[in-house]
Amino acid sequence: MNGAGRALVQVRGLYKAFGAVTVLHGIDLDVKEGEVVVIIGPSGSGKSTFIRCINGLEAPTAGRITVEGHMAEAGNRKALDALRSDIGMVFQDYTLFPHLTVLENILLAPRLRGRLKGEAALRRVMELLDLVRLPHKAQAYPAELSGGQQQRVAIVRALAMSPRVMLFDEPTSALDPETVADVLVVMRDLAVRGMTMMIVTHEMGFAREVADKVVFMDGGKIIEEGPPAQLFGNPQQARTRAFFGKIL
Ligand code: ADP
Ligand code: MG
Repeated sequence: MNGAGRALVQVRGLYKAFGAVTVLHGIDLDVKEGEVVVIIGPSGSGKSTFIRCINGLEAPTAGRITVEGHMAEAGNRKALDALRSDIGMVFQDYTLFPHLTVLENILLAPRLRGRLKGEAALRRVMELLDLVRLPHKAQAYPAELSGGQQQRVAIVRALAMSPRVMLFDEPTSALDPETVADVLVVMRDLAVRGMTMMIVTHEMGFAREVADKVVFMDGGKIIEEGPPAQLFGNPQQARTRAFFGKIL
């Protein structure tokens, strides 16, 4: 949780259209190494599309995204794969493979990519399961876990690829209220350990406490960005004030 360092993620003039409908209207954003950026905004404002562009799940219509020197830009599909290898993503639906144990779920992708091998792999994964407070669930199947526990496994699965940046798209929105806090605690721990994170969430308490920067999006644009104290306490834009006026 610090603002120092160089920009790890650079977004410049990002546009995204689906057919004739433009959903992102020119987004510029820098995320520095170790920074935690929380993205908030009304439903349909383009938050997921923005995150999916950063992860290379959607190709930009115009503009460019650079992560750790890997660049994705309009019309360059190949670059997206390189971009993706530095990025971990956690979605609202945690989508673990039901027929694999927790351990197998976590080891699947790194093994396929040759990123983790043998004993060292197991040690690393057990460390990560410790971090999310689930070392005792390594041999469990997803159906034996609560939603919050499954989401914490999904976080470990992403971390096992040693990403430089973690993206979260409403990671707690599908969870029972009593398991939300456990996931937020894990995300806060990651922030404290210096992980660079971009998080779409409606958890305003979490944003206030953990974010270095809050970004308010509406209508496919960044309307305002700044430290939580500004966005929550003294928003500069009328649309930001209107949004917070409704939800706080
Ligand atoms: P948010 O995550 O802020 O709710 P989204 O990024 O999901 O917003 O959606 C922004 C807009 O883009 C919405 O109007 C949505 O209907 C539209 N949209 C998102 N994905 C697609 C798609 N694959 N095809 C067409 N329209 C899409
Ligand atoms: Mg969304």
